[in-house]
Amino acid sequence: MSTDESKRERPTKYIFVTGGVVSSLGKGLAAASLGTLLEYRGLRVVLQKFDPYLNVDPGTMSPFQHGEVYVLDDGAETDLDLGHYERFTSGNLTKNNNLTSGQIYELVLEKERRGDYLGATVQVIPHVTDEVKQRIHDVAKAQNPDVIITEIGGTIGDIEGLPFLEAMRQFALENGKENVIFIHCTLVPFIAAAGELKTKPTQQSVARMQSLGIQPDIIICRTEHELDEDMRRKISMFCNVDQRAVIQAIDMKHSIYELPLELRKERLDRITCDLLRLETERPDLTDWEQFVDRIISPSHHVKLAVVGKYIELQDAYKSIYEALTHAGAYLDCGLEIVRIDAEDIEKHGAEAYLSSVGGVLIPGGFGDRGIEGKIAAARFARETKLPYLGICLGMQIATIEYARHVCGLEGANSQEFDPQSPHLVVCLLEDQKDVDQKGGSMRLGTWITDLKPNTRAYELYQSATITERHRHRYEVNPDYKHVLDDHGLTISGTSPDGTLAEIVEIEEHPFFIAVQFHPEFLSKPNHPHPLFRGFVEALLKSSELPLG
Ligand code: GLN
Repeated sequence: MSTDESKRERPTKYIFVTGGVVSSLGKGLAAASLGTLLEYRGLRVVLQKFDPYLNVDPGTMSPFQHGEVYVLDDGAETDLDLGHYERFTSGNLTKNNNLTSGQIYELVLEKERRGDYLGATVQVIPHVTDEVKQRIHDVAKAQNPDVIITEIGGTIGDIEGLPFLEAMRQFALENGKENVIFIHCTLVPFIAAAGELKTKPTQQSVARMQSLGIQPDIIICRTEHELDEDMRRKISMFCNVDQRAVIQAIDMKHSIYELPLELRKERLDRITCDLLRLETERPDLTDWEQFVDRIISPSHHVKLAVVGKYIELQDAYKSIYEALTHAGAYLDCGLEIVRIDAEDIEKHGAEAYLSSVGGVLIPGGFGDRGIEGKIAAARFARETKLPYLGICLGMQIATIEYARHVCGLEGANSQEFDPQSPHLVVCLLEDQKDVDQKGGSMRLGTWITDLKPNTRAYELYQSATITERHRHRYEVNPDYKHVLDDHGLTISGTSPDGTLAEIVEIEEHPFFIAVQFHPEFLSKPNHPHPLFRGFVEALLKSSELPLG
């Protein structure tokens, strides 16, 4: 049977995931984990996120507001949950998979001005809700999955989420009960003074959904303690859901990657398939289990530093931490990550923080705060032969450091931080010179890089060309490429026309490599990214060296 034929027999099914009681419940991870389980059951799964805020995309938000901005192949700047979706499934998502209120209003207002609604009063219902529903149909048509899991950002009760929920309600009505289900993620808090778990917040949150005309089919209860049968019965009774569909999501002890396995124990995948009348295979999760085992009890351990400016935020460098975890698991190596604020290095020097770590990673970033601390960290790594991985800004930092301290270009800097510098070794990309709008205007998404034979980059990728995701405005100044190269900073990857430096490395160093792109967005649990794998291998090697 051809795929097209089988498609006709199997209409796309829809799962909407909402959150109640509090934010940060991990509903993105729950949605992603359900995606994992359904994929292991042989289904083609696509995930998407609806964000009720008015920004067109999160690209213009500070990491303090929003955590990491996750970049897709097509250059879309998206919510970090799309990172979970891509890591937990085989999916390669597109800009259609992250919809914000800002995008919908932009579209509706554009149509209004064009006269598409001539004669009508333009309203949230039906004009906004129709666009939301249309987006789901667009994704179904373009990506042709068996199942679309749509996560609605925010918490039930938020005013800005209402149009999305109304659109979901209509969508369920229009597409039939056997094709659409609602999963609601809530918190079941433990009240220490009473020594009890409490179901009331869940009841109230579900009641609120019911008042909007939505009845959840499955409730995922985030909890610190096991839910006993009584608790499950109570939630089932008061929330009007089948007791089997009251699912516990207990706090993961070691790793987020345990969640699919825990939800499998609760039969979330089975119940979902039953509700949607999907006939599927039993999942064989052996390779996922092995991956999780290696995270939990690795045979080796190394310590590395991540030097950044949003270090106190768990979510600011999320994909980098995940990519390190994937590489660590692959190499059976536990990673102790020391998060260092670049401004602390400015105050107390690099040695104070880096003398006890096995390697240094400098992630991407914008703005000049902490820059000199990062430069000092790169210098320390280069001089003391600590493995160094620089990502985007981390490559620009490595270049500035090399220019100043090896090439003797005093005061070298990036145009972003010191436009008056006598040596702008990092400067604005040619294409960026006329850009005056901040949103969505960087060099974004997938671009091809050619690798130079006989370099570390080539050795790691085992390929002459690669594609990687980008998000930047500045580049290594082409005028300085020769002087850098003459002094030993090899440009081992360039854009196909040879103009843009994409990778730099130092041959005379155990592992010093820095890239203009974001390899962290392409790492998957059982397929670590070659650069992260190489970096962790180097950490292992350097940690095995006898102490001198
Ligand atoms: N701020 C730098 C640039 O725009 C680096 C960007 C990044 O690290 N993502 O080029």
